Amino acid sequence: MMEGNDVGARGAAGNNGRPASESPQSGRADSAVGEALTADDIAALNSPSNIPRFPRWAWAILVGLLIFISVFGALVWLKAEHNAALEDCRNAVSRSNQARSRLEKTLKTVASTSGGVTSSQVSQASVVTKLSATVSAASAILSKNPVLTAADACSTKSSTKSLKASTAAITAQTEAMRAHVDKVTKASTTVLASRDEKTLADEQSTLSALATNAKTLLNSTAAKTAETTYHEALSTEITAALALVKSKSTSSSSATALAKKCRESATSLQKAMDAVSASIEQQSGVDCDKLKCVALTFDDGPSAVNDSKLRDELDKLKVKATFFMIGKNITSSTSSNITRDVASGSLDGNHSWDHAQLSKLSTKDIASELSLTESAIVAAGGVSSGLVRPPYGAWNDDVRNVAAKRGEAIILWNVDSEDWKSLDAKKTTTTVVNNVSAGSIVLMHSIYASTVKAVPDIVHQLRSKGYTLVTVAQLLGGSPKPGWVYYSQHDMIHLGSTEQVEN
Ligand SMILES: [Zn+2]
Repeated sequence: MMEGNDVGARGAAGNNGRPASESPQSGRADSAVGEALTADDIAALNSPSNIPRFPRWAWAILVGLLIFISVFGALVWLKAEHNAALEDCRNAVSRSNQARSRLEKTLKTVASTSGGVTSSQVSQASVVTKLSATVSAASAILSKNPVLTAADACSTKSSTKSLKASTAAITAQTEAMRAHVDKVTKASTTVLASRDEKTLADEQSTLSALATNAKTLLNSTAAKTAETTYHEALSTEITAALALVKSKSTSSSSATALAKKCRESATSLQKAMDAVSASIEQQSGVDCDKLKCVALTFDDGPSAVNDSKLRDELDKLKVKATFFMIGKNITSSTSSNITRDVASGSLDGNHSWDHAQLSKLSTKDIASELSLTESAIVAAGGVSSGLVRPPYGAWNDDVRNVAAKRGEAIILWNVDSEDWKSLDAKKTTTTVVNNVSAGSIVLMHSIYASTVKAVPDIVHQLRSKGYTLVTVAQLLGGSPKPGWVYYSQHDMIHLGSTEQVEN
């Protein structure tokens, strides 16, 4: 076959359209070839039926066709390669945008969960710093890589080479974003676990402190109340609380569950302590030389709304308090507070008729301020308590001499809640709880909503620290001395002296 073609090609090129067999050169060539061929081969070659007889135009078409097929094939192949590169690029864009939206979603979740956790809320502060750095790095990646569109990133006009380069670059970014999703997720999980650990540790420590106070309360009051059921209940709560304090968590979810149990235990332990405290406080013979007593006092009432609300709270808590009243505030719409005090065992003291600064008045006017107010209290169904609190705490010899003649003691304070200044329940609570000690007299005002709101917390916290809440008369052993000035159970000025003494 090869020989035939060679011969044909030579014939076509050299013989000007005549058949190769007619050329004498062709005969020579044939005889040269003939040296390697058998006689039969030569005969076959020379046979007219075996010699190709394509015309030149046919050769031209054949060659043209071959060239066309080759070029067309090459074009088809190049186009297919371009299409494949385009498709790869578009798929890479789609994966990149998926990775991007997953990273955005992860960051959003973190922002609303672990992102809000501060270093003081976790057991190990470094985990918060690490999360924050991880989030910053992930955000930087996001802002560096804008959202891609297939049309822009993989233009049909781009070359195959440039499409392949884009695909590689986009894939690298996708991998980077995926890696950031993993890093942020891991750091976030660590922060949440650390927070749960810390929450549990805090709850256990709070419960432990409360249980210690409860044990002190149990021991100091065991012989002082007939209500043994309260003591038994408290003892059971203490045992349960101590078991929870010693419990260990095995996982993040169990830490959360255990922390919740600790909180619930603290609440019921608190209730049991309140019950014991209240049962002691309700007895007539509270001994403040043996118990840690505190007297809550409220000035400037009675007011129509907040004084009633305050008494509602005190009744619920079974707490007796001492009220220093402004005489002219006692009206038909406020007098029910006075009858409620008589019923609950709270005391009503004298805070002058119109909040006058008594130390600036004549003895006659001082006496008038005090007697008008006492009459109003009694007229409203109240009982004289023999307790006077001069407005602003302003007293002098005239004030205490008038009080002494009237058989009244002057009651000041050693803990100022500053409730009038902050008008904030939390601040009021903190100020009182942080400054109280055994024997304290606490100054508050019954006319502020914030004070009313603070009282339950103050009572719970003081009782949980083992304080017994009493009236001023109970605090001072039942008989405050006329003309003496009392700052607390242990801190006073005797009549005729200017020296503050400790008792
Ligand atoms: Zn006042």
